[in-house]
Amino acid sequence: MRSVIVLDDIRVQEIVRGDGSRSYTVVWPDLAVDQEADSFLRQYEGSGTQRTYAYTLVDHLRWRVREGLVTATISLSDLQRYMGAVGARVPMPFGEPWRVPPKRPYGADALKVAAASLKGFYLYQCVRQGVNPALREALDVRRLPTQPDRDRALLGHVVTSMPANPLTPAGRSLRRHPKMLPDGARPELLNEVNTARDAMVVTWLSDTTLRIGGLTGLHLVDLHLRDNAACGECRSPHAHVCHRGGNPNRAAAKKKPEWQVQDGVVIGGEIYRVSPAMISSYFAYMTTEYTRYATGHGMLLIQLHGPRIGEPWTADAARGMLRRAGRRAGLPGRIKPHQFRHSTMGGLLDASGNDLLVAKEAGNWASMQMVDEVYGHPDQHSPQFVAALNTVWGEEE
Ligand SMILES: [Zn+2]
Repeated sequence: MRSVIVLDDIRVQEIVRGDGSRSYTVVWPDLAVDQEADSFLRQYEGSGTQRTYAYTLVDHLRWRVREGLVTATISLSDLQRYMGAVGARVPMPFGEPWRVPPKRPYGADALKVAAASLKGFYLYQCVRQGVNPALREALDVRRLPTQPDRDRALLGHVVTSMPANPLTPAGRSLRRHPKMLPDGARPELLNEVNTARDAMVVTWLSDTTLRIGGLTGLHLVDLHLRDNAACGECRSPHAHVCHRGGNPNRAAAKKKPEWQVQDGVVIGGEIYRVSPAMISSYFAYMTTEYTRYATGHGMLLIQLHGPRIGEPWTADAARGMLRRAGRRAGLPGRIKPHQFRHSTMGGLLDASGNDLLVAKEAGNWASMQMVDEVYGHPDQHSPQFVAALNTVWGEEE
């Protein structure tokens, strides 16, 4: 069957590779790859950010063509005008309407993504091509840390300046997300918990993005806490979160990537890096309460009281423990496991600059899907990811 393809505009091209993975670039009506977009997007190969940036960029490039602008000549005020044209409130006329129906103006999250991708794109191209120093300087600004930044003392590091983006529309700070832990919660909770197990739970939730189901579903064999574990999937200490339907405490990982045991070694699942503080809290628990009470089921977290002492501990019981510790500590609201996840993510965003930020926004904070693609991915060895994690853990070199 013959099909006629009408191409009248720059567009995003999806490329499906042999292994099923996808990558994204921008092509012109004659199918020529847009070199600027392509070289920029290639930095995000294999991450969800690449697709998000491609779609954001293609809209901007179409606008740029209409306005007769190129990288060498475009100014910060042109970019602000574009942001106005796609929906941001800007203190200037932004010319002809751009996103006309059925296209809708961008919402708050999409505007932030657009701001981050444009900043990234122009900084990258100005440096690469050695052009437009005025724009480069205008975009490459940093701001002093705000009080909320400083309050993130639980991250254990001193923030001296934060990357800023003059294209980001003013609005509610992401760092004030209501689902985050109250400031200073980690040390307060650690003061209030009564067992090594509970201290371990607080530490493990604080230093990772583990869900409570994943944490209470862990078996000892899932923990690879020595360097160069036999699984060969991660050189530094980590845990494999494996979905098991038959756990006696009914705890189950939410995600179900494939996993298996090969020659007694767990391989696959969702891999989470383990911090030095997590390892200390693990040993404190294993050498005391676990040794004393565990009943041979092989699960990590056990009940420490009552008729079923030594049996696996449930996610509900863990939730109750956190809620009560939070109440004793006088922390506002109810402490919920998910808040740790949001707070860790917030710390990673702070520490890593725009990539994860964009991933989070693009994935919609509520769904977290895009974020998982970036930080829940088994390959957690990019220098940027490692640096961000070390900062969050207070392990900065
Ligand atoms: Zn492993």
